[in-house]
Amino acid sequence: MHIKPEEITSIIKRELERYENHVNTVDSGVIIQIGDGISRVYGLDDCLAGELIEFPNNVYGLALNLEQDNVGCVLLGPEEGIKEGDIVRSTGRVVEVPVGEALIGRVVDALGNPIDGKGIICTNEYRPIMTDAPRVIDRQSVKTPMQTGIKAIDSMIPIGKGQRELIVGDRQTGKTALAIDAIINQKDKDVICIYVAIGQKQSTVVNIVNTLEKHGAMNYTTVVSATASNTASLQYIAPFSGCSMAEYFMHKGKDVLIVYDDLSKHAVAYRTISLLLRRPPGREAYPGDIFYLHSRLLERAAKLSDSLGGGSITALPIIETLAGDVTAYIPTNVISITDGQIFLETDLFHGGQRPAVNAGISVSRVGGSAQTKAMKQVSSTLRLELAQYRELADFTQFGSDLDKETVKRLEKGKRLIEILKQDQYVPMDMEKQVIIIYCCVNDFLADIPVNKIREFEKLFLEFIYTHHRDIPKTIKEKGSLDDEIKNSINEAVKEFKNRFTLEA
Ligand code: ATP
Ligand code: MG
Repeated sequence: MHIKPEEITSIIKRELERYENHVNTVDSGVIIQIGDGISRVYGLDDCLAGELIEFPNNVYGLALNLEQDNVGCVLLGPEEGIKEGDIVRSTGRVVEVPVGEALIGRVVDALGNPIDGKGIICTNEYRPIMTDAPRVIDRQSVKTPMQTGIKAIDSMIPIGKGQRELIVGDRQTGKTALAIDAIINQKDKDVICIYVAIGQKQSTVVNIVNTLEKHGAMNYTTVVSATASNTASLQYIAPFSGCSMAEYFMHKGKDVLIVYDDLSKHAVAYRTISLLLRRPPGREAYPGDIFYLHSRLLERAAKLSDSLGGGSITALPIIETLAGDVTAYIPTNVISITDGQIFLETDLFHGGQRPAVNAGISVSRVGGSAQTKAMKQVSSTLRLELAQYRELADFTQFGSDLDKETVKRLEKGKRLIEILKQDQYVPMDMEKQVIIIYCCVNDFLADIPVNKIREFEKLFLEFIYTHHRDIPKTIKEKGSLDDEIKNSINEAVKEFKNRFTLEA
């Protein structure tokens, strides 16, 4: 075989032309200190804030403190086997989680890894967990109702799609129960739900998942779980991960309901990390940027403008207070970030009023414009009447001789309170709520004994749904109450009372 020199040179030339210089520069550093889930690394000169750092044993860390001669990282995995002197590498990436339809119905950890034993999550879409909130131009005002199915809330503290409504109360006052009922109520309403459990017991989370499954709510829900046994760093990123998963759907034009249960524990996790990183402690030893952290998270809830698809994220953060103290640091922070709060009270809860919503200090600052007209028509005076009742009840506690008007008011108030009681896991459609509240505010319940009110509610609704199905149907279609419907309800009540008597 004879090869001419020109051939060889041409091949070499061709190869040279195709040669591209891909130099992969990897910034690497050395661990100078490790412990308590925190590591200080020397030598990561070009590290970004929030960058993902690769540690040995396939463990990743998050660069949080960029200091003059070292980088402070929190580990997102177990620190066993990692020691001082080990080499770490920067990745040039920030923390991302898998997002997409494949996450619906799954239980994942804070990094989006499945923990429900149902196999891998098939998605090739990822989103960074820390993203910017939609800009003012990208948003529109809250105007469509996000029905929670809870009478006390939908009537007096209505929530709209895109709103952030805080659920605040002491321990064991039914905070989680409210949020779970709101999720269950989204069945067949084309809303995707994300429940983020932060710092809770594993058994609690398992119970919640079982409850959601039992009520068919896992078909449209993702549970993100960073339990108390997970590291503080995972608890810290969990709500942001959940929010990124929600954002995927929002940008696809869908409506999402996200629950952060709870942000008090999130604040504690962040405080732990910050103190270990030796950031200066501020009020109640929380770092100074804890407000910024929570507002960055909650600002990501939005109702996007129509040109961006009109999707929304409604956020229900939960905060636990100590002895009803809403003036503590974290509660006041989150109250001022959100568009209103639902305040749950221990006394009411133990007094049998469940959900234990204190209507006096609970507000929804933007939801009013999202309430359906029918609900507005029946509930406009509810809050006032309840407040008046409470005042009167306190005032007349020891009195015996009451004038007729006062007695009437007190009796009505008692019935209102009964009507607002609701069991767990039975969220109610708007039409049903409207009918029953209509009956109460129009004094149709005056002749029914107080202890029979809930029975009346149940039987009457059953009666309506068997004999007068057109009433709820029309309310649902029209979204308001006209005289015709009001008359039909009035007639139905009469008919019902003729057929049934409820004795005390
Ligand atoms: P924690 O502070 O432990 O998180 P929490 O405020 O989230 O508590 P839940 O766990 O929701 O409270 O509820 C406490 C208890 O009250 C539960 O046993 C729950 O079943 C019960 N409960 C909550 N709401 C109602 C209700 N509307 N009717 C009857 N029981 C209720
Ligand atoms: Mg709870």
